[in-house]
Amino acid sequence: MTRPADTHCPYCALQCAMTLTPTVLAEPAEGAPGTPVTVSGRDFPTNRGGLCKKGWTSAELLRSPARLAAPLVRGADGAFHEASWEDALDLVAGALRDIRSESGADAVGVFGGGGLTNEKAYLLGKFARLALGTSRIDYNGRYCMSSAAAAGNRAFGVDRGLPFPLDDLDGASTILLLGTNVAETMPPFIGHLAGAQAAGGLVVVDPRRTATARLTDEGRGLHVQPAPGTDLALLLGLIHIVIAEQLVDIDYVAARTVGFDAVRRSVAAWWPERVQSVTGVPALTLRRLARRLASGAGTYILTGRGVEQHVDGTDTATAAINLALLLGLPGRPGSGYGTLTGQGNGQGGREHGQKCDQLPGYRKIVDPEARAHVARVWGVDPSDIPGPGVPAVELLQSLGRPGGVRALLVHGSNLVVSSPDVAAVRERIAALDLLVVCDFFLSETAALADVVLPITQWAEEEGTMTSLEGRVIRRRRAITPPAGVRDELWILAELARRLDCRATFDTDPEQVFEELRLASEGGIADYSGIDYAMLDRGEAAYWPYPRGSAGTPRLFADRFAHPDGLARLVAVSVRASARPSADDGELTLVTGRLLEHYQSGAQTRRVPELAAAQPEALASLHPATAERLGIADGDDLELRNDRGTVRCRARLTPDIRPDAVFLPFHYGDEQAANLLTSDAVDAISAMPEFKTNVVRVTPLAAR
Ligand code: SF4
Repeated sequence: MTRPADTHCPYCALQCAMTLTPTVLAEPAEGAPGTPVTVSGRDFPTNRGGLCKKGWTSAELLRSPARLAAPLVRGADGAFHEASWEDALDLVAGALRDIRSESGADAVGVFGGGGLTNEKAYLLGKFARLALGTSRIDYNGRYCMSSAAAAGNRAFGVDRGLPFPLDDLDGASTILLLGTNVAETMPPFIGHLAGAQAAGGLVVVDPRRTATARLTDEGRGLHVQPAPGTDLALLLGLIHIVIAEQLVDIDYVAARTVGFDAVRRSVAAWWPERVQSVTGVPALTLRRLARRLASGAGTYILTGRGVEQHVDGTDTATAAINLALLLGLPGRPGSGYGTLTGQGNGQGGREHGQKCDQLPGYRKIVDPEARAHVARVWGVDPSDIPGPGVPAVELLQSLGRPGGVRALLVHGSNLVVSSPDVAAVRERIAALDLLVVCDFFLSETAALADVVLPITQWAEEEGTMTSLEGRVIRRRRAITPPAGVRDELWILAELARRLDCRATFDTDPEQVFEELRLASEGGIADYSGIDYAMLDRGEAAYWPYPRGSAGTPRLFADRFAHPDGLARLVAVSVRASARPSADDGELTLVTGRLLEHYQSGAQTRRVPELAAAQPEALASLHPATAERLGIADGDDLELRNDRGTVRCRARLTPDIRPDAVFLPFHYGDEQAANLLTSDAVDAISAMPEFKTNVVRVTPLAAR
């Protein structure tokens, strides 16, 4: 195959459009598999032809010498040995059958990922419930935006990251970015901030002076730098001011919401001076910000992981939604609220059944009507579909424990880097009877597996993704995959056959999508009106897209998705016990991303240019903090708490508050930031606390 293919980037939820042009080499370079591919940016509303470093270099993954080319099975000697696909799949299916018959179906778990195509996510959910018969399936999106999703469902009755097309932001006069560093995580996004910058209305709330915060310089807006973990107090303070200064859109609140009185009472004690004492943000700044947000049309409020990855993440996102509702933003042309989904298919990945509590179409697994509908599509009895399972952290806590999961199948996730309290996860994985990992590389998780199944990459497969706008887009094959790898749809179908599952497991992505359409029909995320042909014609397909409709680029114009059409204002409060506070000598650990890397770094650390630019984890410290601790730039450090220890070097920067230390989470082994994070979770969404753990930082002797 040598024709150019129009597709999208393999990484983040912006899903920048790109064209891949294969080149046939007369003599392939030794050790480099496959056909070289040239990447060029393609015009599309989200990226307008732009790509970031990660996108430009993405094709290097296809020909990486580190790529796996055959199934690996761990032998009695403890080492991996190459195996045929027949032997590897027979071994996996046999072990799964044995474990299931000894300990029951829930002794087998499945861990999915927010980077899987819609087709893979759908088939993985079906495979878990019908071929394995297990309820124990969840995915790494639980770590990503589950709290914002829960808040969106609670307030609006539906969870679509952006309920409007991204280019609606172009006309904004004020954009409030809460806990998101788009200038590094999805750089082409910042083109959509230009209007607000020109109007002096870009507001960035972040404890760090990030690249995004610097976009507010020179009169283009405002950087608000609260103490880590005080986002909820800050939002309650803004709501207090909006109510006290009579900035509430009374008509909108009366006509389109319920719950105002409870919210009004809940913020009564959050006057600006008190919020200043908690957050460190001056009361005057808070007042200026509240007035700016209420100053007229063209205001958007957007949240990201910085305010969502907390044990009170759902309530924090809820407070942001309350603020937006009181200002009359959601559903009004030229304004709104949204959350910026991070993973490539973070949106679609949460709609088709790889979450423990959901069936395709964003249906609740406990809803009898939903079960009956999906059972009809699957050709089974509703009683054949297991009930709800447990969310990701709880699933991992059960590994190898009596009555817990004995065998785990991992798709699209490097969970021994990305999970909270990762030292404990590594220990529990060692107690499993069987770990099977599908990956292109020997990631840190794959390296612990009993069986590794090498899979195709994005440029070698067909499918669909759903971007952060809720727009369904096509992923297209540019090149033929290497001989030794397989598509995950094929792997699931082969395992299902070996497990004597009578349900259909198609291996053609278009046929899987056709089934997904039926399964989603009538659900919240209804894809029934979308097909490959219309996507290939370039038609914009935003869900819900019921059969015969024209899709829904903008939600909430007339009503919200609750049965009465009204949005819920939900009173939330700061819980003092939500997270530990730092004692003398301790710092708050803030984890996050770098421009050069994506997620656990399993892919981007294998791209030479990206690895050379950011080869190791560096702990960012304020110079004043470093001086107090006796640390110089580049010194070796130890970050320690009662969960673990990270060893890395120091990077001094005034861009971080003196009470915090920043560590990127893209690295493995002894530099894994999640050695230090807690597996305490949000009671509503089961989101772990990634952003405000407490650590002690000490210098080590010079290397
Ligand atoms: Fe890829 Fe995201 Fe970079 Fe776009 S912004 S090129 S989608 S990583």
